[in-house]
Amino acid sequence: MSIKSSNLGYPRIGENREWKKLLELFWAGEITEETFEAEMEKIRLSHLRKQQEKGIELIPVGDFSYYDHVLDTAIMFGLIPKRFKTDEKKISLQNYFEIARGSKGKVASEMTKWFNTNYHYIVPELEEAQPILLENRVLTLYKEAKEKLGINGKPVILGPVTLLALSKGYDEQKQGELLQALVPLYIEVLQRLEEAGAEWIQIDEPILVKYVDDNRLQQFKEVYAAFHQAVPNLKLILQTYFESLERYEEIVQLPVAGIGLDFVHDSGQNMAHLQSFGFPNDKVLAAGIIDGRNIWKSNVQEKAAFIETLSNIVSKDRLIIQPSNSLLHVPVTMKNESAFDTIVKDALAFADEKLAEIILLTKYLNQEIPLNEVINYDRSVQTLNHSSFRNVKHVQDALANLSQYPSVRIAAAKRKELHDERWNLPTLPTTTIGSFPQTKEVRQQRLKWRKGELSDEQYEQFLHVEINKWIFIQEEIGLDVLVHGEFERTDMVEFFGEKLEGFAVTKFGWVQSYGSRCVKPPVIYGDVFLKEPMTVKETVYAQSLTKKPVKGMLTGPVTILNWSFIRDDIDSADVLNQIALSIRQEVTALEKNGIGMIQVDEPALREGLPLKQEKTESYLKAAVYAFKLSTSSVKDETQIHTHMCYSHFEDIIEAIDALDADVISIETSRSHGELIKSFEDYHYQKGIGLGVYDIHSPRVPTFEELMQNIDRALQVLDYRIFWVNPDCGLKTRGKEETIAALKVMVEAAKAKRSLLNYIQYNS
Ligand code: GLN
Ligand code: ZN
Repeated sequence: MSIKSSNLGYPRIGENREWKKLLELFWAGEITEETFEAEMEKIRLSHLRKQQEKGIELIPVGDFSYYDHVLDTAIMFGLIPKRFKTDEKKISLQNYFEIARGSKGKVASEMTKWFNTNYHYIVPELEEAQPILLENRVLTLYKEAKEKLGINGKPVILGPVTLLALSKGYDEQKQGELLQALVPLYIEVLQRLEEAGAEWIQIDEPILVKYVDDNRLQQFKEVYAAFHQAVPNLKLILQTYFESLERYEEIVQLPVAGIGLDFVHDSGQNMAHLQSFGFPNDKVLAAGIIDGRNIWKSNVQEKAAFIETLSNIVSKDRLIIQPSNSLLHVPVTMKNESAFDTIVKDALAFADEKLAEIILLTKYLNQEIPLNEVINYDRSVQTLNHSSFRNVKHVQDALANLSQYPSVRIAAAKRKELHDERWNLPTLPTTTIGSFPQTKEVRQQRLKWRKGELSDEQYEQFLHVEINKWIFIQEEIGLDVLVHGEFERTDMVEFFGEKLEGFAVTKFGWVQSYGSRCVKPPVIYGDVFLKEPMTVKETVYAQSLTKKPVKGMLTGPVTILNWSFIRDDIDSADVLNQIALSIRQEVTALEKNGIGMIQVDEPALREGLPLKQEKTESYLKAAVYAFKLSTSSVKDETQIHTHMCYSHFEDIIEAIDALDADVISIETSRSHGELIKSFEDYHYQKGIGLGVYDIHSPRVPTFEELMQNIDRALQVLDYRIFWVNPDCGLKTRGKEETIAALKVMVEAAKAKRSLLNYIQYNS
């Protein structure tokens, strides 16, 4: 018996994002339900066929979705938010999308990050939950693969413990009760699958890498004992990913046929556990060894050696090799990429190429192909490693001498005195987060310029007109600190990716972010450095139009790193510091050109938190250092701003303070006061603007609402440090609503300001 090949999940979006386009056509009412279903089936089958043709033995079915797999699983078991419940026995397509996206009068479900990836899932809401097996969708998909393609697929189901752990609304006790009720429904699904001929089942329980206390361990024991009793002959693989398995010794003893482990993102822990505690000899080990979250070719010889080591513990006939996690998190295929430098291009592997690696490795280990093929394959990675891209002397020298770059500024209170004197801003100064509406016209002009239909001068001219217009608008509205509007940027990371050395932007490197929304993360392939200033021109132009301060606007190193595919031949901390040094240069250049306020956005700082508590401290330490490295070159009288768009930050408030930014703006509206509460316990003393209105809807807030929001914040924050601003950038909003909302905001700030001044005057 030999090693088997497997996959955990395949990207949904299609080679040309046809999945996304289909969804959007359907939502726009431009195609019928029948057409939609028929076209989706074609896409789904073509993905299965590709895996079949490549020779993958265990092909996942049920991983395909019209939106999100957590939503699919919740709906399958009738866990539907109360406001979306109907009497119908079946969930209609329209109903399905309404749960995800909301509908008239019904707010959409909350969405949150899938573990530490940039994929967002729909959070199941538990409220008077009455679980019922609405539709055995995995069975339907299993049968489809079998009947249409002759594939005996491996059904994939999100396990019940993780499903509930990711839900909201129930306390531990109620969750426990619900789990009991779910078990028979899962069993029914499994039994039907077995009857239909399924042999292997993949049950995803990624919660097992995050945190497993005694209570949760007990739940796992009970649930999987019940499964085993009901379907003893079905081969269940308990699948984990993104980190090392917690409670290894106990979990590997659960009565399942196999355990799936991620050997790429586990810091070596899984292998260490295997070596210390062994592995039960009645189980299969599904070894995730090809990186399913990054886009580099693997060094197959190294991987083979790793499997050889593993096979000292688990015999080869009990080994399955697979990607570390679902390939949902990488782009589909390299087939259509062009424009790249060939050295870089040759070293890249997207989903299809990763599956080919699985096959190459399996064949090599099963002695079906000679070593030579592997050696040839590995060459392209080595070529890139030895190329000039990865050996830029001045970058490496700088990295070796980081202490030469001061990363500490004088005390914040001292800086504030200088800033007050320099700008003499009114109490409760008003500002925005950076971007203004990216209208159709803005996007069209950029596209024209990209296609060469507009010359650089013409495009620049256009940008100047936009900047001019919005500086005028901001002055009219009466804002105190202005911005240039970010019209030249598609995306806050891609823009810098295009400008920095060591970065490449792919043509088709899309991955699903949430629903139909896809992102195209830049690829960091070499040493990162700055060749020429990236933002000085537009910022300086904007500043030339007004006497009010214009903030320079940059994306911070942590966010650039977290939203890119990064090289994996060096430590990520080194990549981070390379980016930080580049941003530092840009900050210096802005300052030199007369810009006195510079904002360095870090919306991804919290998102990047490691899954395991014990890794949090070192992550935050590195993040804070990189931010300070980026922003500490400036003179004392220069004001550093930062922005973050999330609400739960109680747990990292100290790190945020440690960034030592003079002013921070944070999203608040959607956190229902939780954020504000955290300032009751934490005495924050630097400038801070808690967003006073939600920018996620076109609604123009009322004066009263804004006054209330300001008041609420001032209950816990000193008015002398408070700034008034919206929650986030305004690029997704329309022009008219933006102007209307900002007008009310400034009015509210002014009203509050005179009240405060009056009180102060009379005391
Ligand atoms: N400066 C950026 C903007 O206004 C910030 C975006 C963000 O926080 N995601 O668009
Ligand atoms: Zn934001």
